[in-house]
Amino acid sequence: MKNLAELEVELFCRGVKVDPSFDVKNYLSQRTRAGLGSGIDIVLSSKRKKRYLNVPVVENFAQKSPFLITKNGDVFTLKDDREIEAHYKIEIPELPDWYQKKTSSGKVMSRIGVLQGTYLGVYVGDVCKFWRVTPKVACKFCTTGLNVGKSEDLEKNVEDVVETALTAKEESGITFIHFNSGEQEKGGVETVAPFVKAIKERVGLLVGVQVTPSKDLWKYDWLIDIGVDHFSFCYEFQNPQYFEKYCPGKAETYGQKTFFDAMEYVSKKMGKGRNSGEIIAGIEPLEDTLKAIDYITEVGCFPTVCIFRPLIGAELENYDSPQYEEMLSVMRYMYEACMKNNIIIGLAPNIEVSLIVNPDDVVELAPPSLGKTFYETKRKLMKSLAYPIFLSKMRKRKVKIDALNPSSYKKRK
Ligand code: SF4
Repeated sequence: MKNLAELEVELFCRGVKVDPSFDVKNYLSQRTRAGLGSGIDIVLSSKRKKRYLNVPVVENFAQKSPFLITKNGDVFTLKDDREIEAHYKIEIPELPDWYQKKTSSGKVMSRIGVLQGTYLGVYVGDVCKFWRVTPKVACKFCTTGLNVGKSEDLEKNVEDVVETALTAKEESGITFIHFNSGEQEKGGVETVAPFVKAIKERVGLLVGVQVTPSKDLWKYDWLIDIGVDHFSFCYEFQNPQYFEKYCPGKAETYGQKTFFDAMEYVSKKMGKGRNSGEIIAGIEPLEDTLKAIDYITEVGCFPTVCIFRPLIGAELENYDSPQYEEMLSVMRYMYEACMKNNIIIGLAPNIEVSLIVNPDDVVELAPPSLGKTFYETKRKLMKSLAYPIFLSKMRKRKVKIDALNPSSYKKRK
């Protein structure tokens, strides 16, 4: 049988079939936000950690998967039909009761935000402008334009988000909320700022932000002072030709350099290991993905590597899902690059992201060495030392900065 790191990577690449003993319908689309992910969240548990992963189910390639999920009473089993003995016990988390609750404006909470692993994911702002212009310049792997306003509400005001986050904190024990958005008329950082402020003042959570980059780097100071704990920068591809071809809107409007400048700026300001560069593996050549991992870790960020999923409705719907062996080498490289650059991963409490392979999910892929033992010991030590710091960041606090008016912040500075 495979170790769980290998199994996780293979499940992302091959997906699963589902036996009729498990009525999967209710679970689908309950973990997606703005078209990120498409399948069901499953949990693989080991002594070291619980891994959450959103496994493809509905795409064509998943129908040919050697993996099958069966249900017997409350017990779920994952079988691999290539090996008779290969049965893995898995958990499929129940959908939380609060999914059906309503905010005071009458909105169903699961149409405001959803759990993607152990954290709350919320898309804010209008449907990405790259989907709305003619001709469309949306990223070719993306399905945001098909989801926002359909499987989730388009109008999400601050009050809706605060009420949903408070309920998710109380009932699901979340510690982290992640805001993402597409291209926005008034700018990504401007769109997200009032939500960040309200969460810090009225809910008390760690806050992550993933929006299009700003060329005004001082606006990151503004957002950090309002309370952002983590930024991720989705530049997707290291190879400039692939970036231009597959992300035409981002290439025309920003260019890779804007992403790089913003990422390097916040990394210097906030310190090593706090922010991430997000890329898609399985489309551009392998050596470019490895270059991206080198670059991201060398500037002090950790890589969030999405294994490409040919989502139904995306322009790349008919592309092949990536090769397992290749993705395995990418994930091993990712862990080793974090180790080499002393990026201490997995410190924040209770943040497991189901859409990607978290860097600390794949510890098992790196061969034993003195360097690995030293790095893992340091990670454990720093995790316990960092815990009280995270707790204090999760306390509600008054934010004096105006989240609607960045220029007043600039003047004051
Ligand atoms: S910027 Fe690209 S990936 Fe993001 S929502 Fe718009 S089209 Fe999708």
